[in-house]
Amino acid sequence: MKYADVIIPLKFRDSITYSVPQELEGKVAVGSLVRVTVVGRAYTAVVLRVKDEPEFDISKIKPIKELINFPPVTQANMDFLRQVASYYMCSLGEVFRFAAPSTVKVLKHQKQKGIPGGGEPPAGQSDSATGSVKASGTDCLEPLGSPGHSADIEPAGLYDRPGHSAVIEPTALPVLSPEQTTAIEHIRSHFTAGRNVLLHGVTGSGKTEIYITLAAECLKKGQNVLYLVPEIAVSRQIQSRLAVHFPDSLLVYHSKQTAPHRREVYSRVASDAEPYIVLGLRSALFLPHDRLGLIIVDEEHDQSYKQTDQAPRYHGRDTALMLGRIQGCPVLLGSATPSFESLYNVRAGRLEYVPLTHRYFEGGGSTVTIVDMPLQRRRNAVKGSFSLPLLKAITTRLERHEQVLVFRSRRAYASAMECPDCGFILRCPSCNIPMSYHKFSHSLSCHWCGYSEPAPAACPQCGKGPMSLLGDGTEKIEEELRTFFPEARIERFDADTTKDKKEESRILKQFSEGKTDILVGTQMISKGFDFKHLTLTAVLKAEAVTSVFDFRADERALQLLLQFMGRAGRRDTPGEMIIQTSRADHPVFRMLRLPEEGDLQALMEERREFGYPPFSRIIRLLLKSQDKEKLDILAKEVSGILVNSGFRDICGPAAPPFEKISGEFVLQFMIKTDRSRNWTQAKERLYSRLRRIPSSEITIDVDPV
Ligand SMILES: [Zn+2]
Ligand SMILES: [Zn+2]
Repeated sequence: MKYADVIIPLKFRDSITYSVPQELEGKVAVGSLVRVTVVGRAYTAVVLRVKDEPEFDISKIKPIKELINFPPVTQANMDFLRQVASYYMCSLGEVFRFAAPSTVKVLKHQKQKGIPGGGEPPAGQSDSATGSVKASGTDCLEPLGSPGHSADIEPAGLYDRPGHSAVIEPTALPVLSPEQTTAIEHIRSHFTAGRNVLLHGVTGSGKTEIYITLAAECLKKGQNVLYLVPEIAVSRQIQSRLAVHFPDSLLVYHSKQTAPHRREVYSRVASDAEPYIVLGLRSALFLPHDRLGLIIVDEEHDQSYKQTDQAPRYHGRDTALMLGRIQGCPVLLGSATPSFESLYNVRAGRLEYVPLTHRYFEGGGSTVTIVDMPLQRRRNAVKGSFSLPLLKAITTRLERHEQVLVFRSRRAYASAMECPDCGFILRCPSCNIPMSYHKFSHSLSCHWCGYSEPAPAACPQCGKGPMSLLGDGTEKIEEELRTFFPEARIERFDADTTKDKKEESRILKQFSEGKTDILVGTQMISKGFDFKHLTLTAVLKAEAVTSVFDFRADERALQLLLQFMGRAGRRDTPGEMIIQTSRADHPVFRMLRLPEEGDLQALMEERREFGYPPFSRIIRLLLKSQDKEKLDILAKEVSGILVNSGFRDICGPAAPPFEKISGEFVLQFMIKTDRSRNWTQAKERLYSRLRRIPSSEITIDVDPV
């Protein structure tokens, strides 16, 4: 009799031993996907090891139900999932559960009834469900799961795929400019030297042509390509371009697709019969890739790359670098506005830097005007939310039948306090993060460390007052515009008006067809849209963009505003961006007008000074409970665990800017650690202690965004 230890897609279970039925002996191997039951529930699991003797009582061991007819998990796939589990402090089972196509996840909620020896069939239930569960079980792919006991896993004997000899000749490659050609040559030589590359190119500089050319080279060599984009809207745009060049080898993969489609892509990737290029969102990293020749991470700065709603709470860019290391393939990060993390890695010598400066389309380009609002107010040149220079600029565009985009920062959970005269924003003295205003107690508090102080009557900086709240919505702006420009066709694009998907696409269609004169919108509008007649972008209360409750606020603001700049005047019409702000001297706005290395340094230095990433690393713990007292007890327990695990720089427990999540009370800890410290060990220690606390009450987020 043979026995097999398998991993089940459950959070806190270690591997479980099953017996191998005689007819499956010799067929069940390490890496095989098998069907097993745990307390009457059917799971797809992966075999960790096969052995002759079990460690405990044979009478308690149940048999493996069946062997799933599917390519086994490879060594590299296994290594990748294990590294993700270890880095992001979750169990291997959780990573496996996530890696599976969605179709089969439903199965684990079904009771497998009446199979002899298969758990405990509830009395009085018929056996009729058995057939359907078994039938769908044979072709379902839900992999595995286990706790993070990675040391137990024996890598030896894992299945190695036979591989393919096919090569793909792309049709009609893009024609490259001299600058693109030079950039490609640099990228190639870095790749040859085993280095990853950050490609920095402004909007419209032609990064996509470079991606396509490099991808084609891989497919030609019989290697596979993974092309990641942050959002579905971006994916749709790129998809049509890639389909032209790679009609037969393009596979698209993201969570909004149907389960059968995802399963088919999973199958094709697993079988690895022909070279493929997968275009996908971050979850495409978890396909069972092999023979990867290139990983592209486009818009690498985009925070949508971070998974926040479920474990593993991974970052697509960082995980791509991990996958690249395991697969031994180069990673190309691309962005018009690189993340501080990537710029830091360039400086630290971990990434090579290749810039693209010219625009692919001749002409275009935007000029930037900063309007100093306190100054305008003193001149009596402000009407409602608008300065006279901005109103004049809008009038001119309307006369020329050009389009205007008015942008207002998304409403936050809570509001920061600002001085309307000097633009001073109240920040936490130790965390440097804007404090949020609480109406009830008329106080300000920091959601990182919990520091609190009464709201001041006058501005602490200039002595004038009263302070005002940063928080007017897009609705008021729309109303004002209607009174200033009664003839204009005005629409609003924000969370309220786009609840209905049809309405959302209608508003965008109207605007791109030139049927709307002024569009008022929030962040939602910054991505994936190309408006041909848009020549003026106005940003109102721009300081609000830099004042979200987050240490990355400046970086985000810069990325967002540059994106908006890229929207206006893209092809043959020059565009203008007008920024209204009470902080005209802020480095972010200065940089938009005249980018200088020194300004970027200044923003980075501020991060270093307060010990924020990329100069440190952060782990965020979110504790929740319906019972406030229980939550406080839990917070005390976690505090103790943190100190005992050797972490020194602990912020919290503090209430996040949203104090309740779906009716539950929440508290958070922010744990900072030095980059030089061995944090892998510290994390392991911490995780093994936190695992003893019931899973639903605590969420671990490594490198939160
Ligand atoms: Zn002031
Ligand atoms: Zn603080």
